[in-house]
Amino acid sequence: MASASLSTTSDVTPHPRFEDSHGRVIHDLRVSVTDRCNYKCVYCRTGEAGAQYPELGIDEYLRLIRLFVSLGITKVRLTGGEPLLRRGIVELVQELAQLRTITGEPLELALTTNGHLLDSLAGQLKTAGLNRVTVSMDAVDAATFERITRVEGSFSAVLRGVRAARDAGLTPLKINCVLLRGFNDDQIEGFARFAREEGVVVRFIEFMPLEEGRLWTPEIVVTLKEITKRIGNWMPLVELPARDAGETARRYTFADGVGEIGVIAPVSQAFCGACSRVRLTSDGKIRTCLFSQVEHDLYGRMRAGADDAELLEYIVRTVQEKEARHHIGEPGFLKPSRSMVHIGG
Ligand code: SAM
Repeated sequence: MASASLSTTSDVTPHPRFEDSHGRVIHDLRVSVTDRCNYKCVYCRTGEAGAQYPELGIDEYLRLIRLFVSLGITKVRLTGGEPLLRRGIVELVQELAQLRTITGEPLELALTTNGHLLDSLAGQLKTAGLNRVTVSMDAVDAATFERITRVEGSFSAVLRGVRAARDAGLTPLKINCVLLRGFNDDQIEGFARFAREEGVVVRFIEFMPLEEGRLWTPEIVVTLKEITKRIGNWMPLVELPARDAGETARRYTFADGVGEIGVIAPVSQAFCGACSRVRLTSDGKIRTCLFSQVEHDLYGRMRAGADDAELLEYIVRTVQEKEARHHIGEPGFLKPSRSMVHIGG
């Protein structure tokens, strides 16, 4: 059984720690359930490529997720592609809600979506046991939003989705916005207002070289420093303390205590040293880093008849190989073979 390669904590009752060779404890699993998407966001997709990778059956995702959970995963985030396009997503959430962590707690269950189909699914997802959603929105005015997504009517659909999710109790509801200089950085102050008015947490994310095309340059990245300066000029910000060591967002509230914004800065202030994540792609490959050059074919082994003990052994061995850090912006940086939409963001 795989526990041979797991270390133990010095607690009174030792329990296995699922960690990599750099001593990072892995407790966060991101699972892509499809690489199809109904949006063609201009900074993410060329508009020419469609789905590129197969999808597993819902029962197959469930078997693999169960194995990860038995090793120490406490949080599962479903993503894609667009996860709400995936038939069986509500049933998958329902099954995941029955799982327990190795310490007997329910999993923390989250989902990242573009929000287009959320209006009709938010209530069902909440009832099925989902805790939270993160909605991706890259503009707060309809024209800019639709220019980015290349889908007419997308802004009003997503706004309905955001409000439905908030009303269903999928909270705290987070909105993720990827900023590109000269493209949607005029939306920064609008998003700060949106966070306050809609009662949502807005998180700005630095653009990473993970697009299908070739758009990324260091100059196009709008950094944490610039974002907080711009918002601070609009209304003074107060930094909030990190809730745990692995927190990826720097969090702020406003001087009057109303609203929260955050900045995730993988480019200007990389947080690889605290990374607790591992990813499973829609076709069942393990990726130990967004920027991995290699993928690990877990599903291939499962399809070939490996039993649970063999799969666990393979997962533990793979996680050991997790990269120390990414190399964005360094000479010789290589883009990964898959772009964000096909990895699972
Ligand atoms: N369809 C879902 C959605 O829209 O949230 C999930 C998949 S999407 C690829 C996940 C997130 O990745 C989105 O917030 C998107 O903005 C973000 N993203 C895509 N390309 C990115 C890039 N190059 N750098 C940073 N974030 C990126």
